[in-house]
Amino acid sequence: AKSKGPGQIQFYSGEMNDSAALRIEMENDLRRGIEKEEFVLYYQPKVSLATGEVESVEALVRWNHPEKGILPPHYFIPRAEETGLIIPLGRWIMDRACREAVIWHQAGFPRLRVAVNLSALQFINQDLVREILTALERSGLSPECLELEITESLLMQDPDAAMRTLSGIREKGVHVAIDDFGTGYSSFSYLKKFPLDRLKIDRSFITDICDNPNDAAIVRTIITLGHNLNLKVIAEGVESQAQLEMLKTMECDAYQGFYNSRPLPPGELAERLKEMRIL
Ligand code: C2E
Ligand code: CA
Ligand code: CA
Ligand code: CA
Repeated sequence: AKSKGPGQIQFYSGEMNDSAALRIEMENDLRRGIEKEEFVLYYQPKVSLATGEVESVEALVRWNHPEKGILPPHYFIPRAEETGLIIPLGRWIMDRACREAVIWHQAGFPRLRVAVNLSALQFINQDLVREILTALERSGLSPECLELEITESLLMQDPDAAMRTLSGIREKGVHVAIDDFGTGYSSFSYLKKFPLDRLKIDRSFITDICDNPNDAAIVRTIITLGHNLNLKVIAEGVESQAQLEMLKTMECDAYQGFYNSRPLPPGELAERLKEMRIL
């Protein structure tokens, strides 16, 4: 490095300082954004394969940044998790999703559910169950219309604690789905014991389902496993008619993906719902 001259070294160390400074700047920006409620929820329909009805919509957060425009979750969720800011942000997301669901109910889709993603930090937060109940009460949404998506790896980190939290959530009537199923490892003995409603097959198994017999075998197996455990199974990341047909023959219950719709801002979703068959 020395042979490259002092200019280079200066540049390199300068860059390292920058990245530490950038992280702090990002944290402050995120804190400000949460304070100013600069976030929006986009929604993607989950569609029944048997009836074609929209059963639920998944809330996917975006940051409507004053200078940078609409930012996707990978840009800020990891930092929000590292800094603990996911707790206030997650509370805002839960609240907003419940309120928006009530608006669709009033607009004539009274049974449509809303699905909210939970981060690890939110899930291990002792106040989670109480915060969910508060969001339901404040909005007037009935618990059966709320669905939580929790990743497999999160549940398996501390299965006994997860069991208690899940039981608390499920007791109230809120639905629970395991997200990204197949990408982590699940112990079958826990899968059997956890109070769950759905398995959501990760997109990585769906992408090549028509061309890769191994992926097709895995998807078929997850569907059978889910049904034998009395769970509904949903596939994510469906982008083509061929994938959709394949999932139908495998008796998958529902799907979600660009083939049906991209995640839409609330106004556009409300318009789309008018054209779609809703539960
Ligand atoms: P996820 O929960 O697995 O969400 C599915 C992601 O796949 C979304 O990306 C969605 O826009 C995208 N997607 C949906 N259909 C298709 C498709 O047909 N093809 C392809 N290629 N992609 C599709 P998004 O919105 O960028 O979210 C990424 C991740 O960020 C989510 O993965 C979730 O882990 C996290 N996330 C999003 N919203 C929230 C939130 O409100 N709270 C928390 N804690 N995490 C969130
Ligand atoms: Ca999800
Ligand atoms: Ca997922
Ligand atoms: Ca996924």
